[in-house]
Amino acid sequence: MTASPPPLGIADTLGREAIEWWLRETDEARLETLWAAADEARSRYVGDAVHLRGLVELSNHCVRGCTYCGIRAGNRGVERYRVSEEVVLECAHKAVAFGYGTLVMQSGEDYGITTEWMTTVLRRIRSETALSAITLSLGERPDGDLAAWREAGGDRYLLRFETSDDDLYKRIHPDLPGKVSDRMRILRRLQKLGYEAGTGIMVGIPGQTHASIAGDIKLFRGMDMDMIGIGPYLPHPATPLGQEFERRLAEDDWPPDQAPNSELMTCKVLALTRLARPDANLPATTALSLVNKAGGRAHGLQRGANVVMPNLTPPEEREHYEIYPEKAAVHETAEAINESIQRLLSSLGRTAGTGAGGRRD
Ligand code: SAM
Repeated sequence: MTASPPPLGIADTLGREAIEWWLRETDEARLETLWAAADEARSRYVGDAVHLRGLVELSNHCVRGCTYCGIRAGNRGVERYRVSEEVVLECAHKAVAFGYGTLVMQSGEDYGITTEWMTTVLRRIRSETALSAITLSLGERPDGDLAAWREAGGDRYLLRFETSDDDLYKRIHPDLPGKVSDRMRILRRLQKLGYEAGTGIMVGIPGQTHASIAGDIKLFRGMDMDMIGIGPYLPHPATPLGQEFERRLAEDDWPPDQAPNSELMTCKVLALTRLARPDANLPATTALSLVNKAGGRAHGLQRGANVVMPNLTPPEEREHYEIYPEKAAVHETAEAINESIQRLLSSLGRTAGTGAGGRRD
């Protein structure tokens, strides 16, 4: 580590060593320069509008065994649900009424969401609402599904690579029988199909080092992603990784160079990602708003983020979409969530964006 901070470049001028140095920085006064640089880049490259994307959690059924995720197939304690076509349409109408330009449909990797069902839903949203863009985040679906949904009106697809450390990824994200998980290939496929592609990582996964996060940020730059979601890893007690996390915490037994899953570390990753990929859409994630309930979302928006995804899922279903414990505002209605986000934007002097709010608009 050098005595004085390395310069904060933009895009390709921000080197891996500098990124790693800043990830390890803890001096508050110096970090203020990082926050200011990220905020300035955000304002210059993507403007002051905050794009609101209404989120619908379609289903918590999942075939996968991700060791971090509360809705993994192996968690027998989860009451499973799948919303109806009508519920999705109601959420889409609500998104329009609240002035959100985009609807994001997310779920576990659930093959009960058939190619045809999703195609019909996409066509109905397109013909029955004035939404500007539709985003999907339904896991590692076959190329045929991705092509059919693009054709039916899907504009964007989110698939986080979670970590660029291959060994760590294999440990936390087991393959399905006979099918190697290759999210990088799927992301390239999505781009070829004409989707705006989004990816991202969790911060502070046990075994994730500062050096590997620096590699993730360099990769974001090279991948030309439209959207990048960055949130802290939040341990879920009914998962193998959550249990490992609790044991490590109790015994203060961390692997060398372990990156913390803190608000501060997540903000550093967010700010450095803004500098590395200044034109990308970066959300202030729900997970970030949970590690600091009072200020996490505001900090995200002041340290590089320009997107918020207010939840529109009806509370009856939302409480079962527990990917991590204590999700923010789990019992709040979509109306209450919308009001609190609008208040937050006013307090920060930012406005809600209109239209699709894509990187290429
Ligand atoms: N099934 C789809 C997929 O895997 O991309 C979409 C849903 S998945 C629940 C969405 C994201 O939630 C994952 O990419 C992961 O980064 C995040 N996530 C899951 N469990 C988490 C946890 N315990 N803490 C923080 N983020 C988590």
